[in-house]
Amino acid sequence: MRIVDVGTAVVRGNFDWVLVKVYTDSGLFGIGEAYWGAGVVSLIHRARDIIVGEEVTNINKCVERMIRGLSGEGSIGGATVTAISGIELALWDCVGKFLETPLYNLFGGKMRDKIRVYVDCHAGDDFTPESYKRKAQERKNEGWDAIKFDIDVPTPYSELKENEKEFWYLPYNRSLSNREIDYLVDIVAAVREGVGRDVDIAIDCHWKYSVKDAIRLLSALEDFDLLWVEDPVPPENVEALLEVQRNVRVPIATGENLYRKYGYRTLIEKQACRIVSPDIPKMGGLSEARKVFDMADVYYMPVAPHNVSSPVGTIAAAHLCAAMPNFLTIEFHAHEVEWWEDMVISDFKPLIRDGYINLPERPGIGLEINEVVVKEHLVEEKNFFKN
Ligand code: MG
Repeated sequence: MRIVDVGTAVVRGNFDWVLVKVYTDSGLFGIGEAYWGAGVVSLIHRARDIIVGEEVTNINKCVERMIRGLSGEGSIGGATVTAISGIELALWDCVGKFLETPLYNLFGGKMRDKIRVYVDCHAGDDFTPESYKRKAQERKNEGWDAIKFDIDVPTPYSELKENEKEFWYLPYNRSLSNREIDYLVDIVAAVREGVGRDVDIAIDCHWKYSVKDAIRLLSALEDFDLLWVEDPVPPENVEALLEVQRNVRVPIATGENLYRKYGYRTLIEKQACRIVSPDIPKMGGLSEARKVFDMADVYYMPVAPHNVSSPVGTIAAAHLCAAMPNFLTIEFHAHEVEWWEDMVISDFKPLIRDGYINLPERPGIGLEINEVVVKEHLVEEKNFFKN
């Protein structure tokens, strides 16, 4: 069963969801998804030429060929690896359909029947503790038992300059005052007060703070028993992150901007964080993510995949999560997109119920594209699995 073509369809949700379809000479096809980003679609079309004619079950060989074949396009990371990830997911879907078994069986079978999901809540609507608290309570009332909020936000004490106000989310490279830290602590306190102790709370800092401020802030958050704090310091220096993690009790999570197993090596070997968060349709795909799960497991580190995907990428990732002993929880980032799950046809809906994914039992990823809904939201009208 050989690969004869690869097509893409880009859907505009709260991110651009890059859907991928791999066609074979048997008529069987697989669907996958790549993380969004400049150049990803054209790199998928370049990769097509490298794998057409290849046996679809030879996933490792296809990936190696694409890595070597596309490395001249820029780097063995970034958009190149993201493009390969989308194709890799579609190849696994093909193989699952060919073997007539759900994807989780190809990664060792189920460790668990239900996949825990946490919901990304962004910031509060107006960055006040009351707004955060209200939003947290709404999510709890919807059945979520794990939530994540951004706290790298302006406070009334932030004294942003006029030209910084529009881009407050960019690093502003100065020290957090005591009052700013108190305010951010008040936000987290309000969230905890709003949901009680039965809901897990994660906090995202988007690589914003210096080592000293990260230690001050995370130390001040110790009493709230957070699930994790994400990316407290910039991502380039693992030793700096290690310095923070060694000085605080709060578990740090990181890894959404790393690629392939090599990207995670130093982070995991140095144990510079407590939780690793690979983005599976971005960092290399299911096989590569499995290696990161295993590397982390050597140090007893849980893995909590970052995820901003459509149902295709989300459910594909969930199959791997079902099989991995050290899985913690996976992100859901499309709470505001009402048609998110209408994009696919599945044996059952909702795909996520009370904060958990029940995996489809159909072969492969177990989903079909709902053409009507996908076509309504295409970025370019005519590009429905265009090749
Ligand atoms: Mg993040």
